Amino acid sequence: MTTLLQTTRRDTYTGIRDPRLAAVLAAEDDAEETGFNPLERISCRVHRRWLHQCVHSPAHVISVTGHRWCRNCECPASVSVDELTGAVTVHCLRCRRTPDSPATRQIVRCCRASLAAAQDGRR
Ligand SMILES: [Zn+2]
Ligand SMILES: [Zn+2]
Repeated sequence: MTTLLQTTRRDTYTGIRDPRLAAVLAAEDDAEETGFNPLERISCRVHRRWLHQCVHSPAHVISVTGHRWCRNCECPASVSVDELTGAVTVHCLRCRRTPDSPATRQIVRCCRASLAAAQDGRR
């Protein structure tokens, strides 16, 4: 079963145009199997994109851990990514404040890293 899944996964990633993204996806999938925290990923297994490109999706709101989630308002938070300056900010959709949590800092850190990795590939 595991072998079958791995084969399918490799085939899936070969269809991705950005070879650097495909490589990072595969490397992070492998790393997860040996204990790498999926929330530290800079590529997204679900959307098969760089994290900063799909972090806007509702799939990235995790209320349990506080990722893209304001605990005060019990409301999702939005992430804005400025590709030019590399600035990443998280704001609650209701109170407009930045949820102050390790999860928010992790999102900002990972999105910055994903942005940098994607831009490296383009040069
Ligand atoms: Zn995603
Ligand atoms: Zn709020």
